[in-house]
Amino acid sequence: MSLKNLRHVFKRFNAQKTARFSFSCKRCGQCCRDRGFVYFTKDDIRRASKVIGMKEKEFAGTYLTHRGNRFFIKVGDNGCSLLTENGCRIQNGKPVQCSSFPYWDEYIGVNGELVNFDRECPGITKVNDDESHPK
Ligand code: SF4
Ligand code: SF4
Repeated sequence: MSLKNLRHVFKRFNAQKTARFSFSCKRCGQCCRDRGFVYFTKDDIRRASKVIGMKEKEFAGTYLTHRGNRFFIKVGDNGCSLLTENGCRIQNGKPVQCSSFPYWDEYIGVNGELVNFDRECPGITKVNDDESHPK
């Protein structure tokens, strides 16, 4: 996800369409190593800071960068700063961007099929067109 898409970020993770592919997270952490940005809403910060046992300001100051009132983690070569050997440090309080992956509007076509998905995710199983579009 690039910064130029920042203005769309808070309305894109609500895809409630019926996805016509199977997904079961393998907790491999690959998506946490893909370069990009992980955005945190105020609710995300509240949840994450509670899980991690920090005050919200402390959490934001420790882990997040901000531009104006938008907070995010820039994921570089070393992966997300909240990724540990045991997975996400805030597993039960992940931001919506993470907890909704891969059900993002940009990845789900009009018929619920997976589209433009150029990432590695062993948790996704595509179903064939015959199965995915029952007549
Ligand atoms: S890449 Fe896919 S399977 Fe691996 S942790 Fe991310 S969502 Fe789960
Ligand atoms: S916040 Fe957690 S789930 Fe999201 S990218 Fe970082 S380590 Fe992965």
